[in-house]
Amino acid sequence: MTNHENFKTLDERKESIICNSKFENRNIKCDTNSVSGAVSQRACVYCGARVVLNPITDAYHIVHGPIGCASYTWDIRGSLSSGEEVYRNSFSTDLREQDIIFGGEKKLSNAIDEIVNRYNPKLIFVYATCVVGVIGDDIEAVCKRAQEKYGIEIIPVQSSGFAGNKKSGYKAGCNAILNLISRYPKHKKEFGINYLGDFNLAGEIWIIKNYLKKIGVPIITKLTGDSSFEEITKATKASLNIVQCAGSMVYLAKQLEKKYGIPYIKVSFVGIEDTINSLRNIAKQLGNKEVIDNVEKFISVQKKKFEKELSYYKKRLYGKSAAIYVGGGFKAISLIKQFKELGMKTVMVGTQTGSQDEYDLIKSLTDEGTVILDDANPTELEMFIKEKGADVLVGGVKERPLAYKLGIAFFDHNHERKHPLSGFEGAINFAKELDITVNSPVWEYVKKEGEKDVKKKFYKFEYESV
Ligand code: SF4
Repeated sequence: MTNHENFKTLDERKESIICNSKFENRNIKCDTNSVSGAVSQRACVYCGARVVLNPITDAYHIVHGPIGCASYTWDIRGSLSSGEEVYRNSFSTDLREQDIIFGGEKKLSNAIDEIVNRYNPKLIFVYATCVVGVIGDDIEAVCKRAQEKYGIEIIPVQSSGFAGNKKSGYKAGCNAILNLISRYPKHKKEFGINYLGDFNLAGEIWIIKNYLKKIGVPIITKLTGDSSFEEITKATKASLNIVQCAGSMVYLAKQLEKKYGIPYIKVSFVGIEDTINSLRNIAKQLGNKEVIDNVEKFISVQKKKFEKELSYYKKRLYGKSAAIYVGGGFKAISLIKQFKELGMKTVMVGTQTGSQDEYDLIKSLTDEGTVILDDANPTELEMFIKEKGADVLVGGVKERPLAYKLGIAFFDHNHERKHPLSGFEGAINFAKELDITVNSPVWEYVKKEGEKDVKKKFYKFEYESV
């Protein structure tokens, strides 16, 4: 059965794709497990947990499973550090056939002993993978014994790959953070915020930290980009939590509100409009007159500083159309607004883990006829990109080859990006990179060559001809 046949025959897939229309007010079906055989672009539970926990700069990460799971390392999630660099290592128990039969708890115990003796860590995360979920190793008990033996924090992460989807992994990662925070006494509240759901890709947290410093708001704990063990244990001091990546961290924000009385707001520093709104919202929530005034002064200085450069790119990008396929709904929403700011049109928008309220907002922000889809596969993406005639696809590492095969521009909005895309500086980087790729002469050349070279066809394997 091909993907196309799957797509046509599975009602669930149809419910996960809608065309924005004023005549049809249908909700998109989201927040469900991927359809078996329909080829999802989503990663596994364990991968989701590492997205959340990997950026903690002084943590050691032991992947309890076969060596393949450990290939998820810092290299594919380039969060930056201003301090320790140990998080760039990945440790594995390298489970083999014998361990599957007789159990891998001893091996895990030995791995913890080795790391403690060699590196003297303060914090270790132990991840359960698919194999561990199947053979039933009790990682909680192993971690507890090791913790009592060494007197350091050894936190189990229940992240067997098959036990849900990437979003379940975010939750497992957040539970590990809550577990760590709960082991320390509740602090007295201070004027300051925790910044949740930013992983300091290309130094993005440093841009926003600088903005907040200028308006007079200190960050107490960053979760988890450029954070450390000590910093996380102080999280209960904050008077407000701000959440950038809602898909991965709104669960943690809700729990911190419930358990420690810290209110939260969602923010986005992707794009100028969202950055301005977020700064104003933070000031409003904190209710500090001086901060409110500082925000307005800061915004007017920043606007003037970047106005000229932005209008140059606006002229060059006006009228182009974009297709979006990203991880979370919050990012898709900010991207739609950014394209609007640049005079571009969004013709297709999809996410891996968007929620119903995010899809409702996407519907209200996009034009009639825009294709909106949840948890899509490459065949579906290809079909809609062609149908809608997008000039550029914004996505992650898995979408890049698709864009190039279709002969259209690609914009990398994934975790391994090298240019920061947050704040005013990020908005300029975004426009600059879009201009370079969308207006590259290569796309015209590819189109002409394709039309000219109709004879250069690929041969297909024909069974009968053998
Ligand atoms: S799906 Fe399972 S085996 Fe594959 S990377 Fe995730 S945890 Fe490892």
